[in-house]
Amino acid sequence: MLALAAARLGLNCHIYSPDRDSCAFEVVRQATCGAYDDEAALARFADAVDVITYEFENVPARTADFLARRRSVLPDPQVLEQTQDRLIEKDFISELKIATAPYAPVHSATQLVTAIEKVGLPAVLKTRRLGYDGKGQARIARGDDPNAAWRSVQNAPCILEGFISFEREVSVVAARSGDGTVQCFEVTENEHRDHILKISKVPAKVTPALAAEARRVVTRIAKAFDYVGVLAVELFVVRAGRSKTVLVNEIAPRVHNSGHWTIDGASVSQFEQHIRAVAGWPLSKPLRLGRRVEMVNLIGDEVEEAERWLTVPGASVHLYGKGEARPRRKMGHITRVWPA
Ligand code: AMP
Repeated sequence: MLALAAARLGLNCHIYSPDRDSCAFEVVRQATCGAYDDEAALARFADAVDVITYEFENVPARTADFLARRRSVLPDPQVLEQTQDRLIEKDFISELKIATAPYAPVHSATQLVTAIEKVGLPAVLKTRRLGYDGKGQARIARGDDPNAAWRSVQNAPCILEGFISFEREVSVVAARSGDGTVQCFEVTENEHRDHILKISKVPAKVTPALAAEARRVVTRIAKAFDYVGVLAVELFVVRAGRSKTVLVNEIAPRVHNSGHWTIDGASVSQFEQHIRAVAGWPLSKPLRLGRRVEMVNLIGDEVEEAERWLTVPGASVHLYGKGEARPRRKMGHITRVWPA
């Protein structure tokens, strides 16, 4: 989707991926299939391009550093180091005096007991690294044996987070350019099924004041990273006395699934904003097209529903060409735009 946005602006992409079946290879002429530690392939790739970006937060930080010694890598690789580890990420957010769920580090079964005393129950034990879509997570309720949760994450370094009974989940996708200009997409409301994003909707059911607060939080995070490109911040909306506020759940240093609606539902997409930012071009102020927009992920064999959407007025079908429709795999999405 980034390569398609770049092509529309007359820019060529060269894709580097260790995955032979990467669907990005289908839409570009220049491609390198290489391992993240293949320095010869990485060096050839860096020499062949003007600027490097990434759309996967688990690119090893060492790979990004290696490339950054040869070419400009945007966003800066230090962002990867800070967001690949949930503990470092939460500490970073807390230092900015931005609210998160209460949390504590857990590196042993004994430390889990101390963490439960600090954070309270119910809580969620999450591996510090490489967890997504609910992988590497275990919920601990009152009366549960904490050791069972510790065993289920296979003794990996973790953080324990207090379980937040949120009113809704939202995200803000924002672009920041090299000169510090920030353009936020509007606050998006997200529904998860089985820990996987299922539906994103705009407008979100939040007051203008809460939306402004969410955008301020994201803008401060982007500035603190001196970020260049698109990032997304997932937020919990919670009650705070008689009003409401937001807590940061997670930062994604990349274009985000909850911003896919912007391809069909906004005057500029998150992908185009990212390409503009890393190419050093000005950003556009995004405007929503339509009264409301909804994006629905096609997960696993739901991809078979795509056909019936092809003829629905106002619906756009996106299929990623990923091959086998394995359970929990995001295979495509549908966007519906309701005319204004
Ligand atoms: P994560 O991988 O951290 O984004 O978590 C995936 C989903 O699990 C979130 O979108 C929430 O629906 C849920 N979740 C994660 N952490 C918490 C928490 N501390 N309290 C309540 N729900 C959570």
